Amino acid sequence: LNRRLEGHGSTIFAEMSALAVRTGAINLGQGFPDTDGPESVREAAVRALRDGRGNQYPPGPGIPELRTAVTEHQQRFYGLNFDPDTEVLVTAGATEAIAASMLALLEPGDEVIAFEPFYDSYAASIAMAGATRVPLTLRAPGFRPDLEALRDAITPRTRLLLLNSPHNPTGMVLTQEEATAIAALAVERDLLVVTDEVYEHLVFDGEHTPLISLPGMRDRTVSISSSGKTFSFTGWKVGWVTASAALVAAVRTAKQYLTYVSAGPFQYAVAEALRLPDGYFTEFREDLRAKRAILGDGLAEAGFQVFRPQGTYFITTDITALGEKDGIPFCLGLPERCGVVAVPTAVFYDDPDAGRSHVRFAFCKQPNVLAEAVTRLKGAT
Ligand code: PMP
Ligand code: GLN
Repeated sequence: LNRRLEGHGSTIFAEMSALAVRTGAINLGQGFPDTDGPESVREAAVRALRDGRGNQYPPGPGIPELRTAVTEHQQRFYGLNFDPDTEVLVTAGATEAIAASMLALLEPGDEVIAFEPFYDSYAASIAMAGATRVPLTLRAPGFRPDLEALRDAITPRTRLLLLNSPHNPTGMVLTQEEATAIAALAVERDLLVVTDEVYEHLVFDGEHTPLISLPGMRDRTVSISSSGKTFSFTGWKVGWVTASAALVAAVRTAKQYLTYVSAGPFQYAVAEALRLPDGYFTEFREDLRAKRAILGDGLAEAGFQVFRPQGTYFITTDITALGEKDGIPFCLGLPERCGVVAVPTAVFYDDPDAGRSHVRFAFCKQPNVLAEAVTRLKGAT
């Protein structure tokens, strides 16, 4: 393994899911739903397979139907206009979009500012590009970004802000004011911005503001999303980038040599998913809002300090009130103790002490599963 990837050995999600399988525990660690997305969308994938659509290499930027559906979705929800021919790129999930953006836009030695705790692929993608990550730490209980600290973190080497809102793992959602202030700073300091918006439809309190919609941002922002979270098909790995033609061309150059293209038949299905009526998106959010309440209330009753997320399907907790100090041994022991898997947030920090006593639970599970997990946790705490 080269030096760039040292310390990026294996992702915490794979480790914790393997632990869940080994112990038969309820997996509230890795964020994936325990029910699949809409039947009509699955049927669309089957139809595409049967009809021989997408079984051979699809076009490099993605099939035209999906690129058009992405632009219609951006128009419907945010009033944004993109050219499906030049301003959209289909990727193998948001993960590839993030990696390709880092590889395409960074020079070795560039600095990238990102919210800490980081979603784990950020650190690895920045490292693979030979760049340096600079954390902007979000601190409990509110996990709001410190905009003065952001200003101070920008140096002549800063090339890019890699932002995630709704934020995994804290559930923080940028307010319109925060987003506007960050955008103004990006314009003032002439920075590129890459926004990971995979939880765009999971905002319970507040509203999702795409940074690319703000003044001065249209030509400096790479906006990323994915079908994994919004349509509950994390295994399909269909994501997309929307940006100016110049930025899309850059990211496409990198994507071209990572995967060349992304899985064809699923692209037809995701095009249909993006065209689902508004009611789908509302119901999806309201369903998860109810699940947030089940798990959030249950964790509080079990004695955890709960930081109520404004978005995403994760809840970050503090275990200090349980007489525990360190989330890592706590999470390693939890499956044995009570048959539940969670993720220690410390692994998402450069400075593990910053999140030492924090533990993340996923609530994208059926209500009875969440209730059973809560019962088990109450028995153990
Ligand atoms: N970004 C964040 C913040 C995530 O939580 C995830 C996990 N779904 C991803 C990106 C990766 O998305 P995908 O599965 O589409 O690659
Ligand atoms: N995004 C999911 C999470 O945060 C998992 C993604 C992954 O396993 N790479 O748990």
